[in-house]
Amino acid sequence: MTRTDNRPQPIRFSFEFFPPKSPEADGQLWQCISELSRFQPQFVSVTYGAGGSTQAPTLSTVTRLIADTPLATASHLTCVGATKDEVREVVRTFQAAGVRHFVALRGDPADGVGSTYRPHEGGFANAAELVLGLKEMGDFEISVSAYPEKHPESRDVDADIDMLKRKVDNGADRALTQFFFDNDVYERYLERVRAAGISIPVVPGIMPVQNLNQLKRFASACGASVPQWLEKRFVGLDDKPQARALVAAELAAEQIDDLRRRGISEFHFYTMNKAPLVSSVLSLLGVRDGQPVQTGAAA
Ligand code: FAD
Repeated sequence: MTRTDNRPQPIRFSFEFFPPKSPEADGQLWQCISELSRFQPQFVSVTYGAGGSTQAPTLSTVTRLIADTPLATASHLTCVGATKDEVREVVRTFQAAGVRHFVALRGDPADGVGSTYRPHEGGFANAAELVLGLKEMGDFEISVSAYPEKHPESRDVDADIDMLKRKVDNGADRALTQFFFDNDVYERYLERVRAAGISIPVVPGIMPVQNLNQLKRFASACGASVPQWLEKRFVGLDDKPQARALVAAELAAEQIDDLRRRGISEFHFYTMNKAPLVSSVLSLLGVRDGQPVQTGAAA
């Protein structure tokens, strides 16, 4: 996969947001959207809460994004805890709001990540079935998940890649990965994905480290690893938020820069609804108003 010339392709990126749970969080989200939209992302996406718990806030956020901004907007959708008819009803509601792109996911049981997933009686058994269900309803653009370090429930990486293949065979256009920090792991995964005959983009999910302890909690819940070298970069910075922010921006820019040298040009940012760090990362990469310039870390 490593490219022989070192010239990076033009960078493209998408931003993931989560629906706000309070008026204060609502203000923070729209401030974040306003700040990041100047970078002209390929698309933005809005997550869907565990067990379908944030259906209404997800709908109102994507509705406002579609109505009030020029941003191409995707809605995440899960099929956990719902019958196929209930999911179809949700899809029709989102479709009426103008949604044409879904990030189609199985989701986790409402009682938490790690508890055993059981398909709802009469529901879609997994994301591959959901993709097929969506394709039967309309010509949607469909993104799905991928797991370079294996999904915690999967037997092994091969089982994961089999599931990804089923999602692609059913109509998925793009995979967005769980976040990771070791680019070699992603590169090895991508080689196996390609060897399995999967040719859709498998877009690295980039998680700028807003808060190391929170990141470690997320990572252990979703089976991602946080390398020691990354933790070491934050040693001694507990009381130095500005230095932490600098290190976090540098880390993500370095990761993307290295992936670009390996031939990757598309990235999905887990923004955590916070613009400053993502803005810093893009600035370090030389991105100005969506146009890559040949200065900074990626040049
Ligand atoms: P699938 O693709 O169906 O399966 C994932 C893997 O689990 C498969 O590779 C398969 O090997 C294995 N597997 C599935 N079913 C079984 C089974 N019965 N037995 C054994 N192995 C099995 N969650 C939300 O609630 N809302 C969101 O908005 C959201 N957004 C996400 C966005 C991205 C980019 C990613 C990577 C994840 C997101 N998630 C979200 C998390 C996701 O819902 C969980 O990871 C969930 O556990 C799996 O959903 P999936 O679509 O990846 O499942």
